[in-house]
Amino acid sequence: MKLSWKQILLWSLPIVVVIFFIWQGFVVPSSGEIGKNIANSRMTYGRFLEYLDMGWVKKVDLYDSGHTAIIEAMGPELGNRLQRIRVELPASAPDLIAKLKAFNVDFDAHPAGNSVVIWSLLGNLLFPLILVIGIAFLFRRSNNAPGGPGQAMSFGKSKANFQMEAKTGVEFDDVAGVEEAKEEFQEVVTFLKEPECFTAVGASIPKGVLLVGPPGTGKTLLAKAIAGEAGVPFFSISGSEFVEMFVGVGASRVRDLFKKAKENAPCIVFIDEIDAVGRQRGTGIGGGNDEREQTLNQLLTEMDGFEGNTGIIVIAATNRADILDSALLRPGRFDRQVSVDIPDFKGRLSILNVHSRNKQMNSQVSLETIARRTPGFSGADLANLMNEAAILTARLRKDSISMQEIDKAIDRVVAGMEGVPLVDSKTKRLIAYHEVGHAIVGTLLKYHDPVQKVTLIPRGQARGLTWFMPSEDQTLISRAQILARIVAALGGRAAEEVVFGDAEVTTGAGNDLQQVTSMARQMVTRFGMSNIGPLSLESQGGDPFLGRSMNTSSDYSDSVATSVDGQVKQIVDACHTQAIDIIVDNRVVIDRLVDLLIEKETIDGQEFRNIVEEYSSLPETISYESYC
Ligand code: ADP
Ligand code: MG
Ligand code: ZN
Repeated sequence: MKLSWKQILLWSLPIVVVIFFIWQGFVVPSSGEIGKNIANSRMTYGRFLEYLDMGWVKKVDLYDSGHTAIIEAMGPELGNRLQRIRVELPASAPDLIAKLKAFNVDFDAHPAGNSVVIWSLLGNLLFPLILVIGIAFLFRRSNNAPGGPGQAMSFGKSKANFQMEAKTGVEFDDVAGVEEAKEEFQEVVTFLKEPECFTAVGASIPKGVLLVGPPGTGKTLLAKAIAGEAGVPFFSISGSEFVEMFVGVGASRVRDLFKKAKENAPCIVFIDEIDAVGRQRGTGIGGGNDEREQTLNQLLTEMDGFEGNTGIIVIAATNRADILDSALLRPGRFDRQVSVDIPDFKGRLSILNVHSRNKQMNSQVSLETIARRTPGFSGADLANLMNEAAILTARLRKDSISMQEIDKAIDRVVAGMEGVPLVDSKTKRLIAYHEVGHAIVGTLLKYHDPVQKVTLIPRGQARGLTWFMPSEDQTLISRAQILARIVAALGGRAAEEVVFGDAEVTTGAGNDLQQVTSMARQMVTRFGMSNIGPLSLESQGGDPFLGRSMNTSSDYSDSVATSVDGQVKQIVDACHTQAIDIIVDNRVVIDRLVDLLIEKETIDGQEFRNIVEEYSSLPETISYESYC
């Protein structure tokens, strides 16, 4: 936090005051003693005179121009031991010296030293000094308050915590898999470099570009790359940093930001998470958020403010363009939208290329295989994956990253931490049959993705796992593919039933069945893949504000609902029968694979297929070598 050092100062104020008082109390009056003569006990002047009369006082040292005395005395009250005692002397102590002389007491006077004077002077000055500084800080803090007395004084002072990078050092080459967006921005780069080309024909360049896309897809990176390519400074601030406790701070930060930007034009102003301020106005519950509205208004004003081609281009990023205020999206503001999406296979491959540039990779590492195993990964996920693999390699003290480390890193990202394998037991055997069941059904079905590996090493929630090499981007899937997936998902339960009997099936298939049901239902209600016909009975998604549609009542009749349920059941039943058949027909090879799996704990996909092939011929599937 930015204010923290001020807070530390404010907090330390009372502590300093306390220390000051302690000092005033003890150190300053006795400073003449310079440490060594400190007396712990005290005595009144009257008592001192009595002691003197009794002849118990041996020595008297006078300090503070005769106001304080440290005496050495011995008496019955002092346990008959020689002790040092402090006595405050009255301002006028007549005849004391004479008396001391008379009793033959050894006495001496110690003048206050120069340093002592300075110390006490400093001590006296310190307190008011701290007070003044403290008040000054309190005053400065209150300047942030709207309409506070300091508002006018602090005008123009930079409080905004935006970053400025003169050179981002990022180029378009560092951003991969977002070719369309890069093309779109090429024009912006040209404008920043040679604005004359545009101004000559009277064209004005967009002031704002909105980058829309899920987190980690490279929006920030892309904005930096534009600045890097054009060689202009890069100002960045996050939308959430505008929103502060005090109304008006955000707006003044926007002002500051644009003031600095104008001084440094041409430049890029990057506003991350613009949805934090740019949300639809007036939708807040309980009167809305004044601060956010003011900030947004200021932002709009600033964007209108710079005429035509000042050379400032505002790039904003969000993952929710749908909730932005429409005023932000109108021409002259963020009128251009560029979307960056989760990369497809080709995109992932080129991102992996970028992130393996500075890494020592084994020659056997195939980036294609990694890209194929990672559908749904964003650019940031892939960058993280390669880094995990590198860390793993370093931990094993190898000198280059091999496929093994990368596989481990992917498994970890997808399925969680690796657990400890089970000891040999009936449970382990059951899990082995379950997994081999999935794998063999997946292998023998024509439209199923090939097995990548089968393992009994637990990960996350799963006690065993069968990994399939996912087919390229799962956006367009055929009916046969969905059915094959349902059959394979039922393969685990089918194997348990066939091998151990109905009574011994376990809860381990719960997750599988959930997926099966959901896939079958979607076939019927969303994709029109059943006897009901090509009807869409459920809308996908729902209200982005509420996350889920409020209107959950179905827009079809009860009789349709009944037949939907009937169709779902029919699909699942047929698939279940098919899975059972495959298990029964291949019992011999399944037993052999289970023994092998229990022994080795992990069987690689190719080895698995080789063994299955000895018993029955494999269907022609898309083999992954021929994929690229
Ligand atoms: P966003 O701003 O969209 O959330 P970032 O730009 O901050 O994502 O991306 C985080 C990191 O992920 C980047 O620093 C980069 O290492 C990596 N990354 C993300 N997308 C890409 C991409 N398209 N090409 C290369 N690296 C990427
Ligand atoms: Mg970002
Ligand atoms: Zn399963």
